[in-house]
Amino acid sequence: MKFFDAAVIGGGVLGCFAARNLMRWNLSAVLLEQGEDVCTGITRANSAIVYAGYDNKPGSRKAEMTVRGNAEFDRLCRELEVPFSRCGSLLVTYDEESLPRLRQKWEQGRKNGVPSLKLLTGPEAQAMEPMLKSGVKGALYAPTTGTVNPWQLGIAAFENAMNNGLIPMLNTTVTGMEKSETGYLLKTNGEAVFCKAVLNCAGLYADRVQKLLFPPSVRLQWDGAEFLVLDELAPKPRHILFHQAQSCGKGITAIPCVEGNLLLSGVRKPISTPFATTPEGLRELEADVKALLPTLDMGQIIRSFAAVRPNPYRGNGESLHDFCIEHPAPGFYSLIGIKTPGLTCANELGLYLAAHTAAYLKALPNPSFDPHRPAIPKTDDPEIICQCGGVTRAEILEAIRRGASTVDAVKRRVGSGMGSCQGSRCGFAIEKLLEGYRNGTL
Ligand SMILES: Cc1cc2nc3c(=O)[nH]c(=O)nc-3n(C[C@H](O)[C@H](O)[C@H](O)COP(=O)(O)OP(=O)(O)OC[C@H]3O[C@@H](n4cnc5c(N)ncnc54)[C@H](O)[C@@H]3O)c2cc1C
Repeated sequence: MKFFDAAVIGGGVLGCFAARNLMRWNLSAVLLEQGEDVCTGITRANSAIVYAGYDNKPGSRKAEMTVRGNAEFDRLCRELEVPFSRCGSLLVTYDEESLPRLRQKWEQGRKNGVPSLKLLTGPEAQAMEPMLKSGVKGALYAPTTGTVNPWQLGIAAFENAMNNGLIPMLNTTVTGMEKSETGYLLKTNGEAVFCKAVLNCAGLYADRVQKLLFPPSVRLQWDGAEFLVLDELAPKPRHILFHQAQSCGKGITAIPCVEGNLLLSGVRKPISTPFATTPEGLRELEADVKALLPTLDMGQIIRSFAAVRPNPYRGNGESLHDFCIEHPAPGFYSLIGIKTPGLTCANELGLYLAAHTAAYLKALPNPSFDPHRPAIPKTDDPEIICQCGGVTRAEILEAIRRGASTVDAVKRRVGSGMGSCQGSRCGFAIEKLLEGYRNGTL
């Protein structure tokens, strides 16, 4: 059995930031993740938006954390050396009747403290985004909205946590829990862990993990969304575009990502198979996108994927609209049903959990905590393995050295296999490098 002051269950973006922020304190911590890598759950499939904060009810935890989290994003991404684009967003409407809703969001945003929000006329919005179908009636411009690669951010926080002393336990599923006077026994598919505090960040399974020991006050119901990705060479809007759902059409979102690709997502839907796309869903999304951005070249689609969203409900069927942080016993915290804007607020939620855990453990600040995490450097190694992204052998070897154990894990760290060939040319070569590293010939 291993002993720690604190254990984080789940290595999505929330668990990685909880772990990173725990390391700001003088304590020992472990992160238990059932997958072979971190950031392969909800975190690998979402809209990648750093929200401005006008969508949330004034006074709510979401509103507060989103506005603060957004304002901190430049500094956070500098510390972790992760690309961040503060491209701004336009919420557009083609419907006169929807204009009061734009104004209401503008007012809400101002109350929340969102800086520089502006209501635009249709022609003003269209001048900013000429790719929009003509006939825009109005828009809400939020210059502080941005976009970040979600798994790059989570992995950077995870690496930084490890550099500051976090112990990772991958391929480790928490299967049972017991409470004693001195702490919590976590049973796993491998070695057991004993800890004084538990931070449950198990994403889609957070309610079930808490139920191993305490009944959760909310349960999760899943729904999903489908996404399309366009090649980086495709002409694209400069801002994130939200098409407000209204009488004349469904809402879609277009995100010009930090990697240069355009990401398109549609409305939420019930799901049959988690993380699986459907032909009809993708066709519908394509049609909705064409209605908003008619000049977009859909021949440039290089990928599609689906996401799963955990919606928290109380026993009486009431849906929760704020972040739910359960604290069923001293030293036990659960994030249950953290959906949008969980990515925007990952650091804020992590800071919150870490500060409460440290207070419970009476831990002092860690004077040697180093917030800086160096990115994998771009090298001039002449051996290019991923031709689409220009990713070199040296970069891939560094990703493997930092813990990537599969072709997908390498992709999440250096962006190989994300171009138009989607890994068909480099996958085999990366597999060979992984094999060489595993058997010690590299
Ligand atoms: C469609 C969609 C779009 C979104 N868009 C945005 C956006 O644009 N901006 C934004 O701010 N937010 C967005 N979000 C929200 C954001 O993506 C999530 O809040 C965030 O990724 C959740 O991360 P997580 O760490 O809770 O979950 P996950 O990434 O799922 O991580 C949980 C981890 O726990 C592990 N685990 C589960 N059970 C166990 C166990 N028993 N033992 C060990 N490990 C376990 C899982 O393997 C998993 O890796 C979106 C969400 C969805 C679904």
